[in-house]
Amino acid sequence: MRTPAELTALFRAHGRKVTAQRQCIFSVLQGDVSHPTAEAVYDAARRRMQTISLKTVYQTLHELAALGEIAALDLGTGMARFDPNVEQVHHHLVCRSCGRVRDLHVDFSALRVPPGADAGFEVGEAEVVFRGLCDGCRKPGTAARAAATGPAPASSG
Ligand SMILES: [Zn+2]
Ligand SMILES: [Zn+2]
Repeated sequence: MRTPAELTALFRAHGRKVTAQRQCIFSVLQGDVSHPTAEAVYDAARRRMQTISLKTVYQTLHELAALGEIAALDLGTGMARFDPNVEQVHHHLVCRSCGRVRDLHVDFSALRVPPGADAGFEVGEAEVVFRGLCDGCRKPGTAARAAATGPAPASSG
């Protein structure tokens, strides 16, 4: 993602509105790897600037996505997720329990639609989503984990 200063210049060049509220949203998104929802961006932005409205957040996110500066993703978590990482092609790990999203940098360029299976589509890029449980949602002490790590140490006392 571009810096807030670069985004400010880009928005002006495209005749789009630049306000302090929008610039605050630009900086909230910098380096955010959590793939936030619009509501999460709103919460983070409001901690910095009380006068930000959810409507402004939605508009700004959609304008950034329209300019290709962020990606608006539907990862099946119920709400659109916004990804500032548009520089590197990547895929996603999605927790089906809490909705946490992590970038996955694996080269799937060998992934092909088998001949005859394209239903007449001219196939372009592919995005791969792996669903499972994040480390925070995996229950400790399951059979699989115990087998991998050996028996739990006996409790003292
Ligand atoms: Zn989770
Ligand atoms: Zn991502």
